[in-house]
Amino acid sequence: ASTALRTAKARGRGQVVLFDGHLREQTRRRVLLERDLRAAIAAGELSVGYQPIVRLCDDQVSGVEALARWTRTGDAVSPAEFIPIAEETGLIVPLGEWILREACRTIAAANKRRLKPLSVSVNVSPQQFLEPAFGARVLEVLRTTGLPPKLLRLEITESVAMQDMARTRAVLGDLCAAQVRVSLDDFGTGFSSLNYLSRLPVDTLKIDRSFIDQLAGGEEGQAIVRAILELGRALSMDVIAEGIERPGQAAFLREHGCSHGQGFLFGKAMASGEVQALADGVPAKVGAPA
Ligand code: C2E
Ligand code: MG
Ligand code: MG
Ligand code: MG
Repeated sequence: ASTALRTAKARGRGQVVLFDGHLREQTRRRVLLERDLRAAIAAGELSVGYQPIVRLCDDQVSGVEALARWTRTGDAVSPAEFIPIAEETGLIVPLGEWILREACRTIAAANKRRLKPLSVSVNVSPQQFLEPAFGARVLEVLRTTGLPPKLLRLEITESVAMQDMARTRAVLGDLCAAQVRVSLDDFGTGFSSLNYLSRLPVDTLKIDRSFIDQLAGGEEGQAIVRAILELGRALSMDVIAEGIERPGQAAFLREHGCSHGQGFLFGKAMASGEVQALADGVPAKVGAPA
C-alpha cells in the first residue's frame, strides 16, 4: 500500500489514489470518527482529564492542564486524532467551550477545599480563538463558574498567535486586562520570531516535549532548552517544561532554573474526582525534591 502511495506522490500533486488500501482505511476511519464524534458530543460522552503541573523546586502541584478525553467503544481516541477533526468540522467551537466550562467548574470546586488554589490551563484551538465572541465567552464562563480569572491559563500555539497579530493583541488584551493568563504551547516547534514574543501579552512559555526528549542526547539538545529558559528570563515569562518522563530531565531543568514542569514522571491526566480530592501540600508522584 505504501508503495502505491509513494508512486502516486511521485506522479505529482492533485492525484487521488482510490485503490490504495491504507489510504482508504484511513479515510473510512476519519468518516466514522467524525460521525461518532458528533454523536458523542451530543450524548455527553467526552470528558476532561487533568494533568498535574508541578513547581520543580519542591514537586508541589501548582495547577493542572485540562486535556480532552474520548472513549469510543471501549478504546481511548487520542485528542491528537479527534481535535483536528473537531477543528475541521467546526465542532471545536461548542466542544472547546464545553471543555473550558467543565475545567473552570471542576477547579473552582477543587479550590474550595484547598488553601493554595490550583490554576487550570486550557488549550485553545485556532478556530476557537478566531471566533469573534471568544474573549467574551471566556469571561462569561469565568463569571458563571466563579473561577478567579488569574487562575485560568489559556494555551495557544505560536501559529495561532502569529496569524493576525493585531487581532491576537486585541483578543488577548481584553482577557489580560481581566487578569487571565496566556501560555504559548509547544514552544519552539512553530514560527518563532523573537520580535513578536515581546509584543504579545503572553506570560508563559511551554517548552515542547520534543526538546525535553533531546536532553539526554547531548550538548545540542541541552543548549536549546537552556536558550529557551534564558529567553523566558529575559522576557520575564514563566517557563513550563512539557513531557518530563525521567528524573534526570527534571534535575537538569531544576539546575537551569526552570520553574515548572509537567510529564508522566509527575502524573498523567486524572479524572475530575481525583483532582477534586487532591490535597494541599502533597507533592506529585515522585515525592522528595532533588
Ligand atoms: P498539548 O496541549 O501539548 O498537551 C500535552 C500532551 O502531552 C498531552 O497529550 C499529554 O497527555 C501529553 N504528555 C504529557 N506528559 C507527557 C509525557 O511525559 N510523555 C508523553 N509521551 N506525553 C506526555 P494528549 O492529551 O494526547 O493531547 C495531545 C494534544 O491534543 C494536546 O497537546 C493539545 O494540542 C490537543 N488537545 C488536548 N486536549 C485538548 C482540548 O481540550 N482542546 C484543544 N483545542 N486541544 C486539545
Ligand atoms: Mg497544551
Ligand atoms: Mg503542550
Ligand atoms: Mg506539546
